[in-house]
Amino acid sequence: MPGYEHTTPDAFVRVRGASENNLRNIDVDVPRDVIVAFTGVSGSGKSSLAFGTIFTEAQRRYLESVAPYARRLIQQGHNPHVDSITGLPPAVALQQRRGAPSSRSSVGTVTTLSNTLRMLFSRAGTFPEGFDTRLDSDAFSPNTAAGACPECHGVGVAHTVTEETLVPDTSLSIRDGAIAAWPGAWQAKNLRDITIALGYDVDRPWRDLDPADRDWLLYTDEQPVVEITPQRDRVAKPYKGMFWSAKKYVFHTLADSKSATMRERVLRFVRTGVCPLCGGSGLRREALAVTFAGRTIAELNALPMSELAEILRPTTMLENPAPAVSSTTSGERTDVAVALATDLLARIRVLTDLGLGYLGLGRVTTTLSPGEMQRLRLATQLRSGLFGVVYVLDEPSAGLHPADAEPLLDVLAQLASSGNSVFVVEHNMDVVRGAAWIVDVGPGAGEGGGDVLYSGPVDGLAEVAGSRTRPFLFPESGEAPTAERERRSPSDWLSLEGVSLHNLADVDAAVPLGTLVAVTGVSGSGKSTLVGRVLREVVDGYLRGTGIGAEEGADAEADAAPAELADAILPAADALAVRRVSGLEHIDRMVRVDQKPIGRTPRSNLATYTGLFDAVRALFADTDLARERGYSAGRFSFNVAGGRCETCLGEGYVSVELLFLPGSYGRCPTCDGSRYNTETLEVTYDGKNVADVLALTVDQAAEFLEAVPAASRSLRTLRDVGLGYLRLGQPATELSGGEAQRIKLATELQRAGRGHTLYLLDEPTTGLHPADVRLLLAQLQALVDAGNSVVVVEHDMDVVAAADWVIDLGPAGGDAGGRIVAAGTPHDVAHDDASRTAPYLARRLA
Ligand code: ADP
Ligand code: ADP
Ligand code: ZN
Ligand code: ZN
Repeated sequence: MPGYEHTTPDAFVRVRGASENNLRNIDVDVPRDVIVAFTGVSGSGKSSLAFGTIFTEAQRRYLESVAPYARRLIQQGHNPHVDSITGLPPAVALQQRRGAPSSRSSVGTVTTLSNTLRMLFSRAGTFPEGFDTRLDSDAFSPNTAAGACPECHGVGVAHTVTEETLVPDTSLSIRDGAIAAWPGAWQAKNLRDITIALGYDVDRPWRDLDPADRDWLLYTDEQPVVEITPQRDRVAKPYKGMFWSAKKYVFHTLADSKSATMRERVLRFVRTGVCPLCGGSGLRREALAVTFAGRTIAELNALPMSELAEILRPTTMLENPAPAVSSTTSGERTDVAVALATDLLARIRVLTDLGLGYLGLGRVTTTLSPGEMQRLRLATQLRSGLFGVVYVLDEPSAGLHPADAEPLLDVLAQLASSGNSVFVVEHNMDVVRGAAWIVDVGPGAGEGGGDVLYSGPVDGLAEVAGSRTRPFLFPESGEAPTAERERRSPSDWLSLEGVSLHNLADVDAAVPLGTLVAVTGVSGSGKSTLVGRVLREVVDGYLRGTGIGAEEGADAEADAAPAELADAILPAADALAVRRVSGLEHIDRMVRVDQKPIGRTPRSNLATYTGLFDAVRALFADTDLARERGYSAGRFSFNVAGGRCETCLGEGYVSVELLFLPGSYGRCPTCDGSRYNTETLEVTYDGKNVADVLALTVDQAAEFLEAVPAASRSLRTLRDVGLGYLRLGQPATELSGGEAQRIKLATELQRAGRGHTLYLLDEPTTGLHPADVRLLLAQLQALVDAGNSVVVVEHDMDVVAAADWVIDLGPAGGDAGGRIVAAGTPHDVAHDDASRTAPYLARRLA
């Protein structure tokens, strides 16, 4: 191992005997106070080393030090498998978020910029006549009782119901279902019987009922209870039934139902719009009366941060500011204003450097990509003033255009130069080249990896023959496999005219079908908007038969029926408009392959998601012992009573309750993590019980289940996408976004031809080593060869260069973007002077 002259010997984190997950009892020394890149193919063990060992151990020590008495309990949780680590500072992990944070967190709250802006309004704002005292800074927050709008409770969105939404067809009688918003099935009959008992005519057409009665039935808050004698069914006994007006039922379901399906159903009867009282800001009237630089705080929150910076800049340059004021005269020209504006400006600068200047402070974090979220948190750390800690980051370049890699490196370097260690798991070779040290893990994935191939200054990797990272880090060696192939010609075109949404303003876009299309552009240029919203909603509307977007002036606002509730409650300002669409008839199906988890609980896993587990359970049910004991396939499910362990209800883990550490898990003592009860485990197939099979890797299972056609096909596709190292029973919650995405792709690939499918992917290379990107590309090309269309949002120039067609958005982010700057073959776009992507694509094509 080459020496590292500039660092003193004790400035190393020394890891000895690490064997977490697939790590092979490795020893490695990693320098502190510099940027260190951990590289290797997906599944090689990078995260097991950086997060699973180094970060986890640092956190464990920290917890022990704060709560020594809890040591025994914590040890039931997770201890990394490592003999020793010395020289380890406290660690902070910035991983890409997997769960969804609450919708109340925004860019401003995550970065804490909102606190400062509120303080600026409170202490230096311009108050109108009639205020006796200044408002407290809390009064400028929709998340506090002092600030929240009384109508929408600070959410900014109001739901309303009207007769039109609740009763779409007024010629129907109640018996025939006039009140469409009421529930179906048994409950419908029940409500109808209650209505009859209350003395209403359920057989008259709705429009002929008395208006006062119609009003009461739809909107009353009263809930009379009446005795019902079931009329048709003479066997049933009388019972008491409670009345629910349509409105009451709808809002009750929205607020309290645990079923997402039910909530989605009732949302159809609700008009969701900007709160009329606060205009969507969530703030009280008083707060909205105060201004700074002529704007309300709501207006400033809605601006891109880059524009907010320009509004604050004059204040930072004020000469001879006045002393702070305590009365309600304007404080805009005081030293407090200067200090607060200067602080804001410096912090916004970092965010702009990280390519996030197009975001507004009010933007809710649920609408951000994981990469944007991580960069926000990274920028926030720069101001934390911490030093002497290890930051462990998960692919900070995710979502970044190659043009923005440089500023990212500057920010990482700044963290390091203020005395911190910065450990990044990275695939972007431009970022890796900017590190001082590289730890290359591999060579392969799972059992084929787990060794440290090299740990040293970056240039030294050039000498390491077995490294799969080397060819990509040193492309001039010409060893990187190429993905060259002939360009396809489109079979048809999907044309969209006059598209407006977010920063897309009256844009025309043409998507060639039967090809691989890459959509490029800097962060915030509108790629996700075009692909994830516009294409998706237009095609979805067409496939659902609503014709949204297919007609002149059609507007998807009303019934786009977005797939998720979170989308559905966005303010109406977020609505898509499309003037004309043609070519939809060539599409039979649409599939989005994203990086969202394949399941949110440890109950789903690779085997259950792909359907592979059905074949496995059938196999066990078919063994002699199972037949003898009368065990059906259901017995071998860990999700239902019967075969599963009842202590952990089939989870394999039980939660360890700790006051200060909610959600710690320990292995189930009854089944020792196997999830099944003893009787079930007695049944074996070819020497293995069902828990043993779930513990197999895909590679091992492919061999073990070779003779089972229903299983071997999905296993083959999983190996094709490079997931041979995953275990069948690995809980969905442990899979990375990239792994989840490839499992979805594999599941798609095993479904043979089903007509022309349009696949939409958002940055599918996130989390993938360049060698894995090649595997992924081959799969995408196979989907296109089979007659489908694939549209990917991408920053990885390997993928862009291999596409048949490129749509480049820009030129910049936010309002400075949203236009199609160039469209054509990769070669055409690479030579377009207006495109910021061009130089990077040209370099790749050369
Ligand atoms: P990388 O970060 O290089 O993609 P990981 O460190 O995540 O690789 O994974 C290395 C190996 O360990 C893989 O075979 C992976 O499936 C396995 N693995 C990862 N996390 C867990 C876990 N929580 N439990 C069991 N195996 C895991
Ligand atoms: P890209 O995918 O190229 O990074 P996006 O499509 O995410 O860009 O964003 C384009 C513009 O639209 C940006 O100005 C962004 O802030 C804005 N935008 C994206 N999503 C939303 C949303 N849900 N609400 C409001 N603005 C949004
Ligand atoms: Zn409101
Ligand atoms: Zn158990």
